[in-house]
Order: sequence, then structure tokens, then C-alpha cells
Amino acid sequence: MARRIVNKKKFIRGISIMVILFIMIILVIAMMVKGVIYLFTKPTENKEQENTITETSSEPIKQPEDNNNTVAIGVANSNTSSQNDEILKQWNLKLVNKDNAVDRNYVPELAEVGDGVKFDKRAITYLKDMINAMYKAGITKIWVQSAYRSYDKQEELFNRKVVEYKGQGKEQEEAERLAQTVVQRPEMSEHNLALAADFNTVTNEFENTKAFTWLQKNAADYGFILRYPKDKQDITGIIYESWHWRYVGKEHAKVMKQKGYCLEEYIDYLKGAQVV
Ligand SMILES: [Zn+2]
Repeated sequence: MARRIVNKKKFIRGISIMVILFIMIILVIAMMVKGVIYLFTKPTENKEQENTITETSSEPIKQPEDNNNTVAIGVANSNTSSQNDEILKQWNLKLVNKDNAVDRNYVPELAEVGDGVKFDKRAITYLKDMINAMYKAGITKIWVQSAYRSYDKQEELFNRKVVEYKGQGKEQEEAERLAQTVVQRPEMSEHNLALAADFNTVTNEFENTKAFTWLQKNAADYGFILRYPKDKQDITGIIYESWHWRYVGKEHAKVMKQKGYCLEEYIDYLKGAQVV
């Protein structure tokens, strides 16, 4: 009987030790698991914090919206100049003016807008979408009178204008100078790039149309800019042309609109030059 009691006591003690050990093991495992979770979760929390700091303390990172312009615009300074150099090489930002001639042999791949009017194949969707949007807005008196012109065609137009001024008694040099303010020299015409569209009557009567008002408000959303604004004639070297709209890409057009830059000013801005 006494032996049985002893055995029973031993049994109870054994069970107690096992229970205590079991609880301790559970506690140790629980602590380890918690530690492992902490190790995995901590870096993620840090990352989130870093992102928040980046977003609030510096310029927001621009997401490219346009498939054709996949490079975000960097604000012109020493850190982003190399990035901007790449942007400045984009086909849609090609600058053509009195100081930047277009190559006589430059012929981009073309697509037809309609009635034999051709535009750069890479940008034609944006032109068509813009015109369709105008139709949807109830503006149906809109058409592209002229877009791509070959170097030869532009030369012909320019020479015709020179002859016209000479007919008014001007000397060759003066006639060319005057012609240049109305019809670009072939090497200076954006129409050779196939990125410019002349709307409707190709006169400044266009300024008084609903289409013009609509374009001023919405063209940037389709990547178009008024290339020769009234208040930029001294910079562009071209008289005000309310009818001439140029494709530069949505991303660039929006910045230009916001800052009130013409293309020459915008390119200077990207180069990091002082813009007054
Ligand atoms: Zn034009």
C-alpha cells in the first residue's frame, strides 16, 4: 500500500514536470515565432516610411503617361542634365527654326489623316483623337488643311512668296526676309517634320472659332501646342499663327502650357539655361 502511494506521488511529480516543460517549450516557440515575424515585417515598415519621406520631401516622380515619351522630365539642373539630354533627342521635341535647320533628306514614316493629308505615323493617333474629341464636343467645323510637306513642296511655296514680294518691288534679299515671316524656308519648316497641323482656313480668323478656344484649353492633353503664339513672336521669329498646332507629346505639352513656354523656351529650360 505504502509503495503504491510512493508510485502515485512519483507519477504526479512526473506529470507536473512534463506539463511545466511543455508550457516552457510552447513559450520558447512562441517567442521564436514572434521574433521571426518581427524580422520579416520590420524592413517592410521601413521601406514604407522611406517611400513616404521621398514623396513628400522632393519633386513628385512623374509617371510617363505616353508610350512615345517614356522618359520623365527632370527639372533642369546639374543632376538631371544627362537625363534631359536624352529627352532633347526625342523625335517629338525636334526643334526647327531659323537656327535649327531640318535635314533635306529627313522623311519620317507617314500616315494619312484624310484627303491625302499626311502626318507622322507615331503621332497620328493623337491628332485623330483630338479631332474626334472636338467632334464629340459639338465642334464639327474643323479640318486639317495642311500637315506634312516635303522639302521640295516647302521650297516651292517659299519661292512663290519671294516672287510675290519681288512683284511688289522688293529686292531679292528683302523679299526673302519678308517671305520668311509668312512661309518658312524649306529647311526651317515644321511641316517637314510631319508634326504640325494647319487647321481650317490657315488664317488668323481661326482665332475666333470655337475650335481655337477648345484647342487652347484641351490640345495639351493630346500633346499639341500652339507653336507660334502672339506674345512669343520675337522668340520664335515667326508671326502669330493661330492655325498652326505642333505635336510635342502630352507630357511636354502640359509643362509648356503650365509654364507658358513656347518650344524654344521649353528647350532652353530643359537644357538648364536661364529662362527670363
Ligand atoms: Zn503651319
